[in-house]
Amino acid sequence: MTPASSAAAIDALEQALGPAGCITDAAQMAPHLVEWRGLFTGSAVALLSPASADEAAAAVKLCAQHGLAMVPQGGNTGLVGGGVPREVTKRPQVILSGRRLKRIRALDPDNYTLTAEAGCVLADLQKAAAEADRLFPLSLGAEGSCQLGGNIATNAGGINVLRYGNTRSLVLGLEVVLPTGEILNLLRGLRKDNTGYDLKQLFIGAEGTLGFITAATIKLFPRARSSATALVTVADPHAAVRLHAHAREALGDDVVAFELINQLAFELVTRHIPGARLPMDAQSPWYVLLEVDSVHADAGTRLQSFLEASLDAGEIADGTVAQSGQQREELWRLRHSISEAEKLAGAGIKHDIAVPLSRVPELLATATEAVTQRMPGVQVVAFGHLGDGNLHFNLNQPDGSDADAFLARWHELGEVVYDIVAELGGTFSAEHGVGILKRDDLARYRGGAELALMQTLKRAIDPGNLMNPGVLFEDA
Ligand SMILES: Cc1cc2nc3c(=O)[nH]c(=O)nc-3n(C[C@H](O)[C@H](O)[C@H](O)COP(=O)(O)OP(=O)(O)OC[C@H]3O[C@@H](n4cnc5c(N)ncnc54)[C@H](O)[C@@H]3O)c2cc1C
Repeated sequence: MTPASSAAAIDALEQALGPAGCITDAAQMAPHLVEWRGLFTGSAVALLSPASADEAAAAVKLCAQHGLAMVPQGGNTGLVGGGVPREVTKRPQVILSGRRLKRIRALDPDNYTLTAEAGCVLADLQKAAAEADRLFPLSLGAEGSCQLGGNIATNAGGINVLRYGNTRSLVLGLEVVLPTGEILNLLRGLRKDNTGYDLKQLFIGAEGTLGFITAATIKLFPRARSSATALVTVADPHAAVRLHAHAREALGDDVVAFELINQLAFELVTRHIPGARLPMDAQSPWYVLLEVDSVHADAGTRLQSFLEASLDAGEIADGTVAQSGQQREELWRLRHSISEAEKLAGAGIKHDIAVPLSRVPELLATATEAVTQRMPGVQVVAFGHLGDGNLHFNLNQPDGSDADAFLARWHELGEVVYDIVAELGGTFSAEHGVGILKRDDLARYRGGAELALMQTLKRAIDPGNLMNPGVLFEDA
């Protein structure tokens, strides 16, 4: 694209979206050009922020006409580099932001649904549902910034997947602008609808490669009348898996979260996060943070009696149950501060993996041994959503090592971990997606017919490869 045709495209986009919707000022664009950890950066000719689905459709149509590549962006909290422009793409790029798509279009308490635009921040949706005495259960560390569109595009998981499923199972309807600029309206609030291919599924977890999501109808649930949260210590991952199985037997679907955390993860938190401290004196190699909800008033007593039985059976060694909302917040703050503490502790290599839950102990033992053999002194920070078989198996640089030299081995160590995960029937990306970071891994572990069909779908829906090129697949 020549500078003149680029200028013509920007003029047309400014006319369609107005000055607030089409920004070219470098300072205003700057925060949108870099991923929050600084791992990925790029450039763009404009930041486009449509304020309605019609404006989004007009913008996409103009971009397609002028050959501008489009990078959908939500709250920019993603962890695989899919939401920021990148240098690998030769074409001029625009950012297609959801930030002005902020309306809640409908809340139907009787149908247990909420229809909202893609730029709504997750925490605001949780609040809106609660004000209508309903629950929107998606919950994750970035909920104060991430947007519904980003959650859907990444099929986000979070802490309540065990009970409510990941984002895919929370979406009933979608509105998407296709790469041609056509609006695909699939905004149905139906729990049953067997009418051919379920097209919305294509866009959930597609990481913005097939279209720009402008709105969704999401599922709501009854709100819990009582909730109880405990932090307990267990001897090892085997004990944690057994505790999980017994918790589900005793408490059924009222177990909404079951998180496993290793000692080093909490050590980093107490060392680096001001005011953070563990509520028990003795340290343990492993901790479990579990939460129970109930539509009755009995969550506290049921959790307490389950823990007493577990203590008697020797399944847990120590534990504390939150006695107030504030204590609950403090327990969850310990868990949610791990990523921040890791960052403050030095360079880190992240693996967001899942295996069948029963194989988690084997995974932890084998992968820890393998990475330690490959890099003596490497520090394993393992934590995550054990109830989903999903762990963040992260590696922090050995004490005194060079950060850049350590990070240069990201790919090599990734292969060591992912090969073990594959042997155990698992996945190299449980909830963060593929983006740019794991593109090679997609080709390596999902090659053959699976990858070929994904590429066929991409070509059919976006033949010009204008929607988030370079994400999931090489930008040919
Ligand atoms: C502290 C912290 C904790 C986290 N915890 C979790 C966790 O527990 N579970 C989890 O799953 N993730 C977690 N994440 C990752 C991240 O928050 C999620 O992936 C989130 O869903 C991304 O939403 P976003 O709005 O920030 O999207 P962005 O980062 O802006 O974009 C992510 C991807 O979605 C695409 N996209 C964004 N908006 C749209 C749209 N409207 N239409 C089409 N495509 C779009 C982008 O192109 C990109 O590929 C965490 C992140 C942080 C920083």
